[in-house]
Amino acid sequence: MENMDQHCVALLKERGVTLEDIAECARFLQADYHQNLTREELMTSVKAVLSKREVQNAIMTAVELDKLAEEGKMSDKELEGALRRDEPLYGVDEVLAYGICNLYGSIALTNFGYIDKKKYGVIDRLNQAGKGDGVCNTFIDDIVGAIAAAAASRFAHRDAKEGN
Ligand code: MG
Repeated sequence: MENMDQHCVALLKERGVTLEDIAECARFLQADYHQNLTREELMTSVKAVLSKREVQNAIMTAVELDKLAEEGKMSDKELEGALRRDEPLYGVDEVLAYGICNLYGSIALTNFGYIDKKKYGVIDRLNQAGKGDGVCNTFIDDIVGAIAAAAASRFAHRDAKEGN
């Protein structure tokens, strides 16, 4: 793994998210299409998504904003309040996540919408923890959902290439 990959894996870990958690979300998303994917195949797909610079930039931005809000260090207290409350109409957290999905086409975007609604696995845990006092997971839950959505969509693209 490259340095930036490792940096982003460490940032995710710091926020309570492992690559296995994301691979599990990707497994959930593609379970109707490919039942026999191995843990290794899922992890490889998650790592491929994480190796993209735009994905890394989204992770760094998301984690930094959540941490600044959580620690009360934002200079704009209106924005800080919106992030701490995870206001449903804020929406920029999802827009940042779309940036990841857009690298992988419309299947990734559809997958993201689905897992965002279902709040599966680690996404549910992040969401619940974010409702607690002093924890801000406003950005990270969407980023994790988008990485899983992108990782799952890679299997569909791979099959299309193989003519399956
Ligand atoms: Mg969010």
